[in-house]
Amino acid sequence: MNERVQIEHALRTGLENNEFYMVYQPQVNDLNETIGFEALLRWNSHELGVVSPDRFIPITEETGLINPLGLWVMKEAFTQLKAWQDMGIPACFQGVAINISPYQFSQEGFVEQVLEAVSTIGVDPRLIDLEITEGLLVKDIPLVTSKMQMLKDIGIRFSIDDFGTAYSSLRYLQHFPLDQLKIDQSFIRDLTDESSSQVIVNTIVSMANHMQLSVLAEGVETRREKNILLTLGCTRFQGYHFARPLDKEAATEYLYKNTPMLVQSPNH
Ligand code: C2E
Ligand code: CA
Ligand code: CA
Repeated sequence: MNERVQIEHALRTGLENNEFYMVYQPQVNDLNETIGFEALLRWNSHELGVVSPDRFIPITEETGLINPLGLWVMKEAFTQLKAWQDMGIPACFQGVAINISPYQFSQEGFVEQVLEAVSTIGVDPRLIDLEITEGLLVKDIPLVTSKMQMLKDIGIRFSIDDFGTAYSSLRYLQHFPLDQLKIDQSFIRDLTDESSSQVIVNTIVSMANHMQLSVLAEGVETRREKNILLTLGCTRFQGYHFARPLDKEAATEYLYKNTPMLVQSPNH
């Protein structure tokens, strides 16, 4: 309880004090080419030191602070993406994924906020991937669908984060304009010794294929896990085996080292 109060207090000044920053974790294909980054939030609090997002995000959700913070995350990630866009986007690079809290998505004016940030920053919306969770999809289906569709219309993509961990309403999935399922790391962790996880991953991959969605495995830590995933038909990966989340300088270096060719040159 005490810790919560401390975190909540420190959060209120954190944004003004510039205590937050983003890191970018590479997502790669079967050839180890960089296909994207997931933008992850970091908080180095003046009062509390480094606090993990698993600890402070839930508090921002309860207090409503997720709205200003989520907007800051979006603008920061779009600005970085725009910098890469101006440097030239490699052929296989599909852009940056941003975590969207269900509270943030459900907020009135969320769609308008995204549209405004896209146009002010000048980022190509086809390079944006929004990660949402299954829980969001069981709420107000017509409203959620129409908000997603407005963003789809300008080219923004949607991924389901932590897929398989929540109540997976498979029947509903097909109603939403989705692009990708991210297989939760708990299944990857068990792949090598638990064949039930192999069955689950196999099922998710074939379901994704039927629905014409891509599928990305997160939390891949070993070559062995990657190889099992390949045999199960998954060819998109994210995890410590490839790279940890990187600061923007290191991410930039990683992107241009792991790129075959440029298809878009600056400002064209
Ligand atoms: P998530 O979206 O599932 O993010 C993946 C988490 O797994 C990240 O932890 C990442 O650093 C970690 N990870 C990546 N590869 C590996 C691996 O190979 N092994 C292991 N054991 N872990 C790996 P992180 O950055 O601490 O984020 C935790 C959670 O906090 C995220 O889970 C997400 O739910 C939330 N979060 C982070 N940034 C944001 C944000 O900007 N907005 C919102 N709304 N939530 C965020
Ligand atoms: Ca995520
Ligand atoms: Ca996840």
